Amino acid sequence: MSRSTVPVSLAELERRAADERSEDGRGPDALIVCDRLVRIFTAGGVEVQALQGLDLVVRTGELTALVGASGSGKSTLLNVLAGLDVPSAGTASVAGFDLTAMDAAARLRYRREVVGFVWQQAARNLLPFLTAAQNVALPMRLGGGRIRRRQWAARVRDLLDLLGVGHCHDRVPHRMSGGEQQRTAVAVALANAPVLLLADEPTGELDSRAAEEVLTALRTVNEELGTTVLIVTHDAAVASAVRRTVAIRDGRTSSEVLRRATRDGKGAETVTTQEYVTVDRAGRLQLPAEFAEKLAIRDRARLTLRPDHIAVHRDDAGEVLRESAPEDLRGAQADGGRDSRR
Ligand code: ADP
Ligand code: MG
Repeated sequence: MSRSTVPVSLAELERRAADERSEDGRGPDALIVCDRLVRIFTAGGVEVQALQGLDLVVRTGELTALVGASGSGKSTLLNVLAGLDVPSAGTASVAGFDLTAMDAAARLRYRREVVGFVWQQAARNLLPFLTAAQNVALPMRLGGGRIRRRQWAARVRDLLDLLGVGHCHDRVPHRMSGGEQQRTAVAVALANAPVLLLADEPTGELDSRAAEEVLTALRTVNEELGTTVLIVTHDAAVASAVRRTVAIRDGRTSSEVLRRATRDGKGAETVTTQEYVTVDRAGRLQLPAEFAEKLAIRDRARLTLRPDHIAVHRDDAGEVLRESAPEDLRGAQADGGRDSRR
């Protein structure tokens, strides 16, 4: 703790963080590491567990979509990753910054320099009385010298051009379309060159064409600037346009879809999609509800290890075992049976 009270340069913090990351077993390229993250809210005497032991690793340079039903904990997770909220238990780190243990000064610096965010409501992203250029320059002015003053004007122009809103340079938000406002908001989020960009339903209030433009802008940011991007979305089009989609259910990551482009012998590209279930650090995984229902798997399942996979079977051997079990095992079998009918 005493270490954080001594002023150190950002470069030094980043170097220490890289050292720590290569030691935590996930390799130096793990940018976001959440371990058994819990966030409990108390509202009117009622406890809500918004995050219930969430595990997530995102590697540097990834473009990831986070999907899930309303109320599943997506915004809660993003607020923790943005340094705006503190988890009740578990650990979360971004670029080696421990989000559970930062003091106020480190937190402010983290929010200004390490992470950028875009919210669903354009009004929350842009100041209405400033032009696009002034909005983008503002974080640089507040940013503690990460970007040098003489670079401000050129950087503002470059960012607006990159996001396809160079023509909005001197416009105030109400003279821009919703899509232009959100792309300008992305430029604002990138002003101080963060390593991570978080976007919470950035296309939620847009028509499909504007949404597509915002999505293209986020992909451009990922590809051209190498920024790691995490997008929370309801929009199936967004989820199908990224390589990795992580699903969150009841405050936990439950499954993910990876899309891979492969080339055949003639060089033709095909995109294959594969769905995975999440295996947490303790080895737990959740069977997809439709699989479990189809095979009537409840309460317990029988696993068999094969050379290259694990088979999951319904516990239909229960009856057979009970018939043939030796006398001293019968009691235990019957107990198990009672459990499974609860
Ligand atoms: P999502 O973004 O996936 O729709 P949220 O993260 O906003 O979900 O919310 C997850 C759960 O936590 C919901 O049940 C929500 O009502 C609750 N929640 C979120 N923020 C608060 C808060 N500040 N106080 C009380 N409950 C909250
Ligand atoms: Mg939300």
